[in-house]
Amino acid sequence: MIEQQLDSLYQHIHQVSEHNGRSAEEITLVAVSKNHPVSAIRRAYAKGQRHFGENYLNEALDKQRQLSKLEIIWHYIGRIQSNKTRKMAEQFDWIHTVESLRIATRLSNQRPQDLPELNVCLQINIDEEDSKSGLPPDKEQLLSLAQEIHQLPQLCLRGLMCIPALKASVSEEIKTFSKMQALQNHLKVHGIPVDTLSMGMTNDLDSAIRCGSTLLRVGTAIFGSRE
Ligand SMILES: *Cc1c(COP(=O)(O)O)cnc(C)c1O
Repeated sequence: MIEQQLDSLYQHIHQVSEHNGRSAEEITLVAVSKNHPVSAIRRAYAKGQRHFGENYLNEALDKQRQLSKLEIIWHYIGRIQSNKTRKMAEQFDWIHTVESLRIATRLSNQRPQDLPELNVCLQINIDEEDSKSGLPPDKEQLLSLAQEIHQLPQLCLRGLMCIPALKASVSEEIKTFSKMQALQNHLKVHGIPVDTLSMGMTNDLDSAIRCGSTLLRVGTAIFGSRE
């Protein structure tokens, strides 16, 4: 099941990329394994999947202990609690959900010196929903924060991440993802060397690819539903 779903997802990403004049090689699939057992991660890993995303820190740390022999690239995609940043800085390769200088500074200070820089994305509350975290989609505010985070020694600011509201149509999805692209371009033209757009989940990944996504975060289409 997981094996076939992954195969068809890889194939699908390939097709949608080509269709939009992109190379599938610029797109990384993060398999979101929250609420799924380590056995599911092992099966995906055996198919060649290396990037995995987790939302809950304790669940993730437990899985990492059990899977320590595997060469997994771990992405933290959940909400950040400021008293838990140390473990995040020690145990993950990527943090997608940074939204303040305070948290970024803690992560930088707590990133062990012997590890490579911690890759981070700034989360944007792109549809300005009360229920979601993230920065408002404001170009100037984003740029000034990005300029400060770009200076932090143990972090590498890679780009932007969003979790959009569910949309009624593809054209609305594209409108939202295009705003992310515009924010990203604003950083680039002002000299911040960002290369990552973390966007696209099971329901909207085609539109995300079309709008320049480089990191897809997909759970359900690989592992099935989380109930
Ligand atoms: C759960 C989750 C995903 C994966 O969602 P699916 O709809 O199952 O593909 C992606 N990103 C974040 C931040 C998530 O919490």
